[in-house]
Amino acid sequence: MSSSSPLSSRTSIDILEELQAIAAKNLEKLEVNKYYEVIRELGKGTYGKVDLVIHKIRGTKMALKFLRKKTTKLKSFLREYSISLYLSSFPYIINMFGIAFETDEYYVFAQEYAPAGDLFDIIPPQVGLPEIVAKRCVHQVAVALDYLHFKKLVHRDIKPENILIFDKECRKVKLSDFGMTRRAGSPVKRVSGTIPYTAPELCDASKHEGFCVDYSTDVWAFGVLLFCMLTGNFPWEKALPSDTFYEEFVRWQRRRGGSVPSQWRRFTDDALRMFRKLLSIEQDRRCPVKEVFNYYNHCWMLDNESGGASGHPGTEISPSSSEEDLLVDRMKQQTLSPPCGVAKGSVVMEPAAHHFSSVSTNGSLSPPGSYERVSRDSAPGGRILVATPIEICV
Ligand code: AMP
Repeated sequence: MSSSSPLSSRTSIDILEELQAIAAKNLEKLEVNKYYEVIRELGKGTYGKVDLVIHKIRGTKMALKFLRKKTTKLKSFLREYSISLYLSSFPYIINMFGIAFETDEYYVFAQEYAPAGDLFDIIPPQVGLPEIVAKRCVHQVAVALDYLHFKKLVHRDIKPENILIFDKECRKVKLSDFGMTRRAGSPVKRVSGTIPYTAPELCDASKHEGFCVDYSTDVWAFGVLLFCMLTGNFPWEKALPSDTFYEEFVRWQRRRGGSVPSQWRRFTDDALRMFRKLLSIEQDRRCPVKEVFNYYNHCWMLDNESGGASGHPGTEISPSSSEEDLLVDRMKQQTLSPPCGVAKGSVVMEPAAHHFSSVSTNGSLSPPGSYERVSRDSAPGGRILVATPIEICV
């Protein structure tokens, strides 16, 4: 940005560019152990790692994010750092210390430490969070996302692992990981690989044309996130016609009525109306994220106590469908773990099936005992991206 621009005309993009330029100019080489005492690792993957440290002079606890130089361009590091810094004063976005440096192996920046970890850790598989807890979390994430969108930015990697929590009741949660965040309207191209949060328009690998970054991508992922939080299951593996659960959902969405897909029958009509808007198949018909506030005071779950699949009145709605019963059984087995465990890591370009290592191609599932996190490092070879299956065009 030219220094002669009047302050009033500065856009977020100007500011971001300026922040990047300043960070690039001031990036110093540091020896981590000289200034920080490493307490423990908070997260890791092929992208690098996040360590809990104490600043030796200030005595402050911090989370240091280390991005491996081998797989991260300086430009990408500076972009993530400056976007994080730019957004960090917002109450529902992870705070930053304004510290960035490099070591021989890593680019590093410092964030506030979230003592209760991430949202993934507290969603009970196949059960979900109590509605009241989920709503608290949803509210804060929606406010954060709305702010991001107001700033003309799209997060592009909304998932439980990127929502940091400060207490198990979700009284304080913050959005994090802006490694994939881009300006709305920027051109991006597809890379293969999908996670359950990926919007349908981005899932179809046969389409090779590029995309423009759009808010609706976040809205879709936010809708899937709500489902995961409230049920402890994914609604589908991927938003593609080959996925039985997704296909059933599409039929219901398009028919505007008819029988509600089995795994959605645990929700009230109000919640279903909300999901219909958030998860509109046509991207231009998806509502803004703040639409969720209109449903905040309504009940979302039919059976508030269990929150799980067993609480839905499936037999009353569809007494004769053995196929649907089968789907219910399969959904009951589907924990957040296998897909999420892998999705927790960076997305690998090839092959997409690795994101669901314990889910077979016909959608049947591995035994429920397989609930485990799979670290980013356990992903098979291939180029590792920082987060979701899309990379920016150059
Ligand atoms: P990230 O690559 O930024 O998504 O971080 C990977 C994982 O490290 C997250 O899913 C969290 O479990 C953990 N983590 C990252 N940042 C923090 C933080 N500031 N406080 C606590 N845990 C964190």
